[in-house]
Amino acid sequence: MSEPDTVSPDGDDDAAIASGPVLAVFAHPDDCEIAAGGTLAKWASAGREVHLLVLTNGDRGSQDRNLDRAELARIRAQETADGARIMGMSSVTVLDVHDGDLANTEEIRAEVVRRIRQVRPTVVVSCDPTAWFFDDRYYNHSDHRTAGEIALDAVYPGAGNPHYFTDHLDQGLEPHDAARMWLGWTLEPNHHEDVTGFLDTKVRALAAHASQLAEGIAFFEEELEKEAVSAGERIGAEHAESFRVLELR
Ligand SMILES: [Zn+2]
Repeated sequence: MSEPDTVSPDGDDDAAIASGPVLAVFAHPDDCEIAAGGTLAKWASAGREVHLLVLTNGDRGSQDRNLDRAELARIRAQETADGARIMGMSSVTVLDVHDGDLANTEEIRAEVVRRIRQVRPTVVVSCDPTAWFFDDRYYNHSDHRTAGEIALDAVYPGAGNPHYFTDHLDQGLEPHDAARMWLGWTLEPNHHEDVTGFLDTKVRALAAHASQLAEGIAFFEEELEKEAVSAGERIGAEHAESFRVLELR
């Protein structure tokens, strides 16, 4: 029997939560840049461990019917690694699930719970699964909504409970409760993170996903800046990113 650990970053101390490891869980290789790239880059630049888990391999991210999907997955894995390096991330994992086929299954939750128990994040970042319709212009990809659900279900009730995925415990991993969920791509933000100085990093990381930018990065650069300026106005900052933040403990 070991003593409960009361002074580790797993504790409730706000400073420990704000400086502890981060796990970002998103559906597609380029999602985390768009939804949270400025915040993730800012945290990494502050010396925080930031890990990325991508739940699909992005192998439907093309309109070219002659493009080989396995080849596209391979290209996108490299782009993911390049984008993560630009944001200063500590690790990247891409699951071998087909783009468009993401489902909230026990098998996928097991993978996310495993990563949570390995990384032991104080903050898990994902996207808001309740966000469906944006400005009467488009609606959210099913993989994005599903990724948010999977991340939430993996955090609770999953990673912190020793009766879920007990084989992890046999392998030496311990249950872990993340203190915060930060959900991007949300229609109900309750927090705007100042990312002034990191918009350029976000755009450069997104530009690494060249297979997705047949028209170039200019469109995204303009849209992301508009979004960042508008979120920034809410807090009097030049640029910000918006999240629904859940304080779980
Ligand atoms: Zn996506």
